[in-house]
Amino acid sequence: MGAAGIGDDYYPTLGNGGYDVQHYDLDLFYDPDDNVLDAAVVITAMATQDLTAFNLDFTGFDIVDLRVGDLPATFERNAGELTITPAVPIASGERFDVTIAYAGNPTASSSPAFDRVAIGWREGPEGEQYIVAEPDAAHTWFPSNDHPLDKATFSFIVTVPDGYAVGATGEFLGIEPGQEIVETLTYAWEMTTPMAPYLATIVIGEGYQLVEDPVSSEAAGIPIRNFLPADLVADPPDALDDTGEMLTVLEEAFGPYPFDRYGITVVGGFPAALENQTFSVFGRVIVDSPFFEFVLVHELAHQWFGNSVSIAQWSDIWLNEGFATYSELLWIEHRQGRAVYDQVVADRRQAASTAGYAPPGLPPPTDLFNGGVYQLGGLLLADLRVEARGLDAGPQQVGGEPGEGRREDDVVDPALDE
Ligand SMILES: [Zn+2]
Repeated sequence: MGAAGIGDDYYPTLGNGGYDVQHYDLDLFYDPDDNVLDAAVVITAMATQDLTAFNLDFTGFDIVDLRVGDLPATFERNAGELTITPAVPIASGERFDVTIAYAGNPTASSSPAFDRVAIGWREGPEGEQYIVAEPDAAHTWFPSNDHPLDKATFSFIVTVPDGYAVGATGEFLGIEPGQEIVETLTYAWEMTTPMAPYLATIVIGEGYQLVEDPVSSEAAGIPIRNFLPADLVADPPDALDDTGEMLTVLEEAFGPYPFDRYGITVVGGFPAALENQTFSVFGRVIVDSPFFEFVLVHELAHQWFGNSVSIAQWSDIWLNEGFATYSELLWIEHRQGRAVYDQVVADRRQAASTAGYAPPGLPPPTDLFNGGVYQLGGLLLADLRVEARGLDAGPQQVGGEPGEGRREDDVVDPALDE
């Protein structure tokens, strides 16, 4: 029997033991009129112990059919745990497929990590559907081993009524027309670099288009394509042009970009941003803010720290957020010079000294994305840079106004900037 958790102190039931997922194949039909998701998911896994039974994480929906290999399997559901007993036990080292067909209304969920914003499957004001699943909502839309310790490759085959477009994490493979009561379009996307389940997303919207950014693609040397609503296709936000340059600045600091493509999407109703692998999601309120440029570099930095290099425990979240916040400072230095960098570091240090943050390595489980995780984490890395390279980080006299760097408090609750 595989364990019901993967060993995370903050989330004892997230993830599972006894197997290692290799690939998720998500075949989804979404009907926007009735908000119904009809799904067939095939999970390919390798047993790491003998298994008479094993768990997946999964909430919501009705399970219509469940098979291990070709044989129907029995299953029980208890809270977020789906316990599967295959007809034939699985031997350690054996590769096996689990096929789960399910249907129902996808809904947003709340997380014990914060109470400010609903996560999971969300709907925007224009009817756009999107998923933001950090830290614990992947298993609210597909059955999964929902923990960053078990990464896998993904296929997304998403069918929607004609007129809707689908974006997803990874590479866009193509569209095929079809018929399923109404005329449909089936979008195929693929993520070939292993990905934590919480970073998987799809976005479904009317009038959305996948648009190449030639300036950024040229600068970055990889395709930069954004999946944007019609008004932003016609008039893209200015800072988006900087994506390629940001990528080269971060490569200089952190080494080669870890994936083969990048892009963002913009959705309504979400007061934050999330670094889904190769496909960051931005709430429109962030895009419209004067700080968009800094959130853009922050989410891009997560492709290195969070997505490629990942935490083993959610309590270590500062390793994701500290590097991403520090990257905002690197961009400020690149664009505005060393003196402004020094001033922004000094300002942030001053603000942090009176903020009463918890130590970033011990975030409260009910406030996982608190300001200390971001600000103290980022400042620690600025200090380590001084230690490592001898760069004097002390405040310097700056001519004119102090730095234009982002002060979290000015725009969004830092806890919402994931
Ligand atoms: Zn972040």
